[in-house]
Amino acid sequence: TQQVRLARRPVGLPGADTWTVTTEELPAPGPGQFLVKVDYISLDPAMRGWLNDVRSYLPPVGLNEVMRSVDIATVVASSHPEYAVGDTVSGTFGVTEYALTDGAGVQRVDLAVASGPTWLGALGMPGMTAYFGLLEVGRLQPGETVLVSAAAGAVGSVVGQLAKAKGATVIGIAGGPEKCRVLTEELGFDAAVDYRAENVLRRVREIAPDGVDIYFDNVGGDILDAALANMRRGARIVLCGAISTYNAEKLPPGPSRYMSLLVFRASMTGFVVFDYADRYGEAVAEISRLLSEGRMTAREHVVSGGVADFGDTLGMLFRGANTGKLVLAL
Ligand code: NDP
Repeated sequence: TQQVRLARRPVGLPGADTWTVTTEELPAPGPGQFLVKVDYISLDPAMRGWLNDVRSYLPPVGLNEVMRSVDIATVVASSHPEYAVGDTVSGTFGVTEYALTDGAGVQRVDLAVASGPTWLGALGMPGMTAYFGLLEVGRLQPGETVLVSAAAGAVGSVVGQLAKAKGATVIGIAGGPEKCRVLTEELGFDAAVDYRAENVLRRVREIAPDGVDIYFDNVGGDILDAALANMRRGARIVLCGAISTYNAEKLPPGPSRYMSLLVFRASMTGFVVFDYADRYGEAVAEISRLLSEGRMTAREHVVSGGVADFGDTLGMLFRGANTGKLVLAL
């Protein structure tokens, strides 16, 4: 089986020399173990953080370790009483073609409910992040106005559609006219702002002259600053991610408009989706209901290739080359 390992810790954007592809024989499963063949690998912006040797909510990936990833996989050999050949599962098997597991942390996946890529997107970690970030951390109320960045991505596209389903007015920020078209024409957003071509601060002010009640921040940096200038009294800022800073070689300057929090009695709250792990069932039930009723679209960006294409595919997240949840199909 081939797998991708961390060869050296990148400075700035990860490059070809960040990774090595290795080949290894796997033994047959021993008692209580089963062998899976990986079908889909999830590509996540958080992966960039796992490459840095710093303290965070998960330990960094070690040098020469198989790169950590969440995968959808099929059981191909089993000596485990609860898993049979042909079962579909999800687990943190890593960037590898095959993996041996004892089932710890593995979940069953029902392909009758949704496809493998959707189980990594709208019904996977990004969907859970959107659901709990918007409803629990953001405390969305009907009739409010929601602004979301990286809006055409995995988390952002679910945030916007969930907010619409709950009766909010939704403004998305994304890079380029095509993504903005997807937001308003395919995903039901009320308005879209192209941050590459437009002045975000001014465009949001035109669209929502009274300000926004929730800003769901996936990108940080200048776009966070522009959002801070468009608060409404009592606004909440959900600090979900800051992808615009993940490859920075030195600390970026802080948001210069954070005193807006004081003026508008607003709050900005960070969160990590894993804190809601015992309630994922609730989110899967609601999101899959909206999907089956046609009130939400699960959008994935599936790239076909081998594990050796992992590094190039990961780079797409930082260039904005994905619309929807980015998945590598083996
Ligand atoms: P996406 O599918 O949204 O892909 C990343 C997108 O970010 C790109 O498509 C691109 O879209 C945008 N982007 C990249 N670079 C920049 C930049 N410099 N400035 C502005 N936008 C940029 O990824 P996810 O949905 O998986 O993740 C979104 C965010 O959510 C990330 O910050 C991630 O770390 C965070 N997250 C947080 C979790 C938590 O528990 N707190 C859990 C899961 C994710 P465009 O073309 O529009 O620029």
